[in-house]
Amino acid sequence: MGLPTAGRRTMERLAKLRNKLQEKELDAVLVLGSANRRYLSGFTGSAGTLVISQDAAVLITDFRYTEQAAVQAPEFQVRQYEDYLSTVREVLEQHGCRRVGFESDIVTYDQYTKWREKLDEIEWVPVPGLVEELRMIKSEEEIACIEQAAAIGDEAWAELLPRMRPGVTERELALELEFLLRRKGAEALAFDIILAGGPNGALPHAVPSHRPLQEGDLVVMDFGAKVNGYCSDMTRTVVIGKACQRTRTLYNIVLDAQLAAVAALKAGKTGKEVDAVARRIIADAGYGENFGHGLGHSVGLAIHEDPRLAPKGETVLQPGMVVTVEPGIYIPGFGGVRIEDLAVVTEDGCRILTRSTKEMLELGV
Ligand code: ZN
Ligand code: ZN
Repeated sequence: MGLPTAGRRTMERLAKLRNKLQEKELDAVLVLGSANRRYLSGFTGSAGTLVISQDAAVLITDFRYTEQAAVQAPEFQVRQYEDYLSTVREVLEQHGCRRVGFESDIVTYDQYTKWREKLDEIEWVPVPGLVEELRMIKSEEEIACIEQAAAIGDEAWAELLPRMRPGVTERELALELEFLLRRKGAEALAFDIILAGGPNGALPHAVPSHRPLQEGDLVVMDFGAKVNGYCSDMTRTVVIGKACQRTRTLYNIVLDAQLAAVAALKAGKTGKEVDAVARRIIADAGYGENFGHGLGHSVGLAIHEDPRLAPKGETVLQPGMVVTVEPGIYIPGFGGVRIEDLAVVTEDGCRILTRSTKEMLELGV
């Protein structure tokens, strides 16, 4: 009560984390992962350690970030360190913490070794994914950021289309797209743009090259914006000039698979159930071997979050999760087709955040 929105949000998240600490009989947890740190504290700096116990919320950082930390993380006590390990020890001692969790999936082996050697009175407990689990279900406010990032992607892509024609290189177009995304309000790209024409499109994560687009190319474009730290992610595939029969066939299979998966997406299903819907359609059309990645992933402060929509995705989907649906077919030497939407899982289905058309566009001729 009385706290500004950001403060209330922080306190809610800390309360949830503290429940988990209690469940796991931990006195405290150290948080170093940048997205986890930002999620729990609001602090966006590149270095800092959160120490969270039932009665403490401390942010340990260095001279570069002390002032920023005090502004961005008012619910935390900010401690500037000279000697990192002795400050960590001091804070843990002050709050009587002996059994302490750490992000074993993020902390380096070197870091862990130092803690164990120098802070040997502490019982270190690996807790991979502890904060990530809290991040899985997005609040209205988080979804609004992702939606805004998705809208920037849609607008930028629409403006890029008229510039796509034979002769222009992948690199030029990727640069243009980056400019458009930033111009429309992206604080950063969500990840390096994938823009790949013709045979390059057969590499699902191709890097834009100096190859000029040619008539008949399929061009795969996969990109996203960041707004308040939150990512968007979309892929569209277009044709330069007239599509041949093969191109048309591939495109329609992927589109069918994508639409069917979107129709199947809802709370209560597992990631692998939704994945199977798209995979079945592509396999039945004879291209099972050419769809070698998962159907989708969650998106938030990080571009790839759990749960996944994939053959091994056992997690049951819940309302408020934000996932991509992105089947693809990749034919070596010829090209690729991928269509990716971002969707919020709801009780009875999903709400698509990507608004760009999924019709096959033939451009530039
Ligand atoms: Zn993508
Ligand atoms: Zn994606």
